[in-house]
Amino acid sequence: MQSQNIYEMLKNTRKYIKFARNVFYRLAFSRHAHRGRRLWYTAPMRTIDTLTLPLLAWYDAHKRAFPFRDSGNPYHVWLSEIMLQQTRTATVTSYFTRFTALFPTVEALAAAEETDVLKAWEGLGYYSRARNLLKTARLLAGKGFPTTAEELVKLPGIGPYTAAAIASIAFGQPVPAMDGNLNRVIARLFHITDNIGRPAVKRQLHDLGKSLMPEDRPGDMNQALMDLGATICLPGTPECHRCPLQKACLAYLEGEPDTLPVMDAKKPPVQMDMAVILLQCGDQVLLRRRKETLLKGLYVFVLLEDAQSKSAIAKALGQMGISAREVKTLGTARHVFTHRVWNMTVRHWQTEEKTDIPGGLWASAQDIRALPLPTAMKAAREWALQILDKGEE
Ligand code: SF4
Repeated sequence: MQSQNIYEMLKNTRKYIKFARNVFYRLAFSRHAHRGRRLWYTAPMRTIDTLTLPLLAWYDAHKRAFPFRDSGNPYHVWLSEIMLQQTRTATVTSYFTRFTALFPTVEALAAAEETDVLKAWEGLGYYSRARNLLKTARLLAGKGFPTTAEELVKLPGIGPYTAAAIASIAFGQPVPAMDGNLNRVIARLFHITDNIGRPAVKRQLHDLGKSLMPEDRPGDMNQALMDLGATICLPGTPECHRCPLQKACLAYLEGEPDTLPVMDAKKPPVQMDMAVILLQCGDQVLLRRRKETLLKGLYVFVLLEDAQSKSAIAKALGQMGISAREVKTLGTARHVFTHRVWNMTVRHWQTEEKTDIPGGLWASAQDIRALPLPTAMKAAREWALQILDKGEE
């Protein structure tokens, strides 16, 4: 009986300790705590000592080596941060090296033709990034970069994340570069259980990120958080046993790091059926330069949505003033964009007349190799080259 009472007492004591700890952390890391009304407790002191310094020590020993790191050149930081959006680091490395060889300075980029920039970007996707790079280079050429996130964010294609990354890495401004990685890591470190898509929670995460920034190495701290998120504090199941912040991470201490961050489920992308017509006339096929936002400025073959049958394709081509006949269906291809999927059937058609269409270009095999075509056209492009190269033999 007595031992049961002791057991109950211990159980309750553990419960009270856990409750008190949660209240303590809520107070310490609440928004009020970061606005100077901190009661007796100094949260930034704790975060710098227990999170920032250990993470920087880990970063110094384990940081990933990239050609764009440690140069301190704002052009390199800007370019790499733009390339890294939505693209894996391994892919970016080779693109970065090639791009900077072609356009070694902001001024060289500013003087380039859009088609050449898009060609250098070919395969990286999200081509609006390349078009905005060019616009921004033309604004900055001869003037240099602004040095604060507040100014940088006004430039085309530079959002709050990129502005903070450039300002902290190239100019030492202590601002957190909040992207998916940092939001995830910080939500876990501070055990934020609210939906991180909510504006108030985003602000809270930003404030917490700011409390982690040391005055002397904010760029390194942002990159350390990025590296931690990319290699250890992974989406899904983090590898906490390898983490340098394990002892201070509240999600780990609560035993539920893999349930964080809480966010809305992604909507599935829209499926679109698309006929890709390789319309051949002699030794050329018809390309079209896209005006639509998606893949704007890139060259594609004739794309017909919702025209799958031979008669529907003939009718759609007829509406463009083109009279043509089908040779054969070559095969299928699929390309996944963020919000849509193109399910493509690639078809070979022939015409006797090189009809002009708006934005159209009759292209030889050599032109197809030289012009910027998106990855979505990769399979169709191979077939087109086979057809044209065969015709030349
Ligand atoms: S302990 Fe785990 S959840 Fe916490 S920061 Fe490290 S890897 Fe992420």
